[in-house]
Amino acid sequence: MARYIFITGGVVSSLGKGIASAALGALLQARGYRVRLRKLDPYLNVDPGTMSPTQHGEVFVTDDGAETDLDLGHYERFTGRPATRMDNITTGRIYTNIIAKERRGDYLGATVQVIPHVTDAIKSFVLNGNDDVDFVLVEIGGTVGDIEALPFFEAIRQLGNELPRGNVVYIHLTLMPYIPAAGELKTKPTQHSVKELRSIGIQPDILLVRADRPVPAEERRKMSLFCNVRETAVIQALDVATIYDVPIAYHKEGLDTEVLAAFGIDPAPAPKLERWLQVVDGIANPEGEVTIAIVGKYTGLKDAYKSLIEALQHGGIANRVRVNLDWIESEVFEKEDPTPYLERVNAILVPGGFGERGSEGKILAAKFAREHKVPYFGICFGMQMAVIESARSLAGIEDAASSEFGPTKEPVVGIMTEWLKGNELQQRAEKGDLGGTMRLGAYEARLKDGSRIAQIYGSTEISERHRHRYEVNRSYRDRLEAAGLSFAGMSPDGLLPETVELVDHPWFIGVQYHPELKSRPFEPHPLFASFVEAALVRSRLV
Ligand code: GLN
Repeated sequence: MARYIFITGGVVSSLGKGIASAALGALLQARGYRVRLRKLDPYLNVDPGTMSPTQHGEVFVTDDGAETDLDLGHYERFTGRPATRMDNITTGRIYTNIIAKERRGDYLGATVQVIPHVTDAIKSFVLNGNDDVDFVLVEIGGTVGDIEALPFFEAIRQLGNELPRGNVVYIHLTLMPYIPAAGELKTKPTQHSVKELRSIGIQPDILLVRADRPVPAEERRKMSLFCNVRETAVIQALDVATIYDVPIAYHKEGLDTEVLAAFGIDPAPAPKLERWLQVVDGIANPEGEVTIAIVGKYTGLKDAYKSLIEALQHGGIANRVRVNLDWIESEVFEKEDPTPYLERVNAILVPGGFGERGSEGKILAAKFAREHKVPYFGICFGMQMAVIESARSLAGIEDAASSEFGPTKEPVVGIMTEWLKGNELQQRAEKGDLGGTMRLGAYEARLKDGSRIAQIYGSTEISERHRHRYEVNRSYRDRLEAAGLSFAGMSPDGLLPETVELVDHPWFIGVQYHPELKSRPFEPHPLFASFVEAALVRSRLV
């Protein structure tokens, strides 16, 4: 039977609960256990799909087409195990299900209440489908004390009693702030946070304490005493140079040993951490560097591009170089000449995006890359903008545009209302709901034999994750191909363009999907490895 580890956060948000959970998952995996990570999000949105990336960061898409919290990206990158739609749930989804049941009359006259109906729904979500794993790590979003998170805390409290003795461990992640005037790390916020947690019936077994400097033994003793946690179970989580160092750092501090001890499991033998040591070594000791411009719209908030940043770093590991990112707001190019911004970079990437604002700037970035033979990687929106650029500049379709920006005579990129998923027809209304209605999740594509992209993948059949509403319009294919833009990848039915590449260019590739979602530190995605390599080649030329 699976054992459960609940990870809660206290004091402040943004302490890195997602990475802490993912790193612990990786450590247990390195000891040969099978792990699964799940996230409970207390907000009312049904999923993060309709939230602005500036509010909530990237929307992570699973193979089975769920729009989920970005922490699921960390879970996948650290464990290599693909997440599913069953690994993330929100208050909004739970209520949607409960209210639908109530309307059907399934509650047979009962008064429907937070306890037991909402808490039961949360518990059944947490317990469902864990037969094939040894440990289920459940991260609770938000911070202890949040009103909206109360039903989740209540549910995990109940599980502590309902599951067999010794099958549940609670970990609480807190912060020790350093007060310069006193020259001390303070324990009081942690004490208060644990007090709050205990007042709702949860006694943490382990405290994971974030601090910007080592926690003195005296402070550790104090937290142990006041928070009723064993001294060895007060674990410091110091800042590290790269997130991939976290599993190694936690192991050194004894987190995995303490977790196993809390379950009554013998901690021998030690975990196998070779692959993490290799990743960290690759990042810490690069043999060169490249600079890549990311021309996007949410460049102020790096969380909006989480998987992308990681995938580029993985590409760096594959080539043993440091990848410097030069963030550029695409709107700048609508007022200023891009040359001074782009002539000094080794490659240009235009990532996914939505809406007209900044789109002309992205088109100009693609134009610069094409004309100056700078490696160009267009992802989703970045591919669509590159196709519009080629249509205008190479195929003479001056008014080429996307119908995402309003009615157009030349919808080189157009709304898609019908497509196939396997053998199943998917249909959407043009002005239907925005939530959960895009082309989402894993779809296969066929790559033209001998194309650049087929060489990079080493295969002509691929499967990648999608998240888009618009599509390059295949009725322009012949004209664009005649002008030098090859439609190298198509959906298996031959109807939807999946990848494009400029024939007369060292590296100019657009993909309709999001390859960054499947890159792993120990298994860099081939497109990112190849793109960083192209940047390296370019850096040696200029
Ligand atoms: N806005 C575009 C679409 O919906 C691209 C989406 C994206 O880049 N993820 O098709």
